Amino acid sequence: MSDDKREAKHSAAMKKQKARVDAAVEAADIERGVMILLTGNGKGKSSSAFGMVMRALGYGHTVGVVQFIKGEQLSGEEIYLREHCPQVDFYQMGTGFTWNTQDRSGDIAAAERTWAVVAPMLADPGYDLVVIDELTYMIGYKYLDETMVLDALAGRPANQSVIVTGRGGGHGLRELADTVAEIKDIKHAFKAGIKARRGVDY
Ligand code: ATP
Ligand code: MG
Repeated sequence: MSDDKREAKHSAAMKKQKARVDAAVEAADIERGVMILLTGNGKGKSSSAFGMVMRALGYGHTVGVVQFIKGEQLSGEEIYLREHCPQVDFYQMGTGFTWNTQDRSGDIAAAERTWAVVAPMLADPGYDLVVIDELTYMIGYKYLDETMVLDALAGRPANQSVIVTGRGGGHGLRELADTVAEIKDIKHAFKAGIKARRGVDY
């Protein structure tokens, strides 16, 4: 094929694609907050959620972050938000909670305490974005009642977006979410014996 012909073919394909994208943009005319579920076994769920926190903060939006987090490890995002973003309401389930604990009732109490922080956020139109990090495990382990969680997510104010992260999570969350992305694990440095790194992994 000559260069001219290749150029013309490329230009026609680009025109077609532009028409398709323009039509899709035109058709999307609903204005409301969305629920996003970031799941799967690959790396990038929580860090994607924090990427959206940064986006929202760029527009001066009001953000709440609640982490149903395992263990006592501080994370760079927690340090940064606590130090530089006092406008972000940040809460973590806290120390003492690990997946290995035998203290199921203690875990449930911690999960319920943390839910008591999220639930009011999900009812407050003052929050533009609420991140609920690692929530899926609470449903998986039945530490929180699934119907209660789904009802709160579904009943949030129309302007509010919510991001839920974690592996699994079940059918209910997937059904309810407007956007569901599953991050696939192709490979991970940890499996080659490379230590988790500050600023990259936590
Ligand atoms: P990140 O916080 O890096 O976005 P994530 O939220 O997708 O990761 P989690 O299951 O919450 O993943 O685990 C968080 C930690 O586990 C991070 O240190 C991350 O690098 C590591 N991790 C994530 N996926 C994998 C994997 N497939 N194998 C090994 N370690 C992983
Ligand atoms: Mg995570």
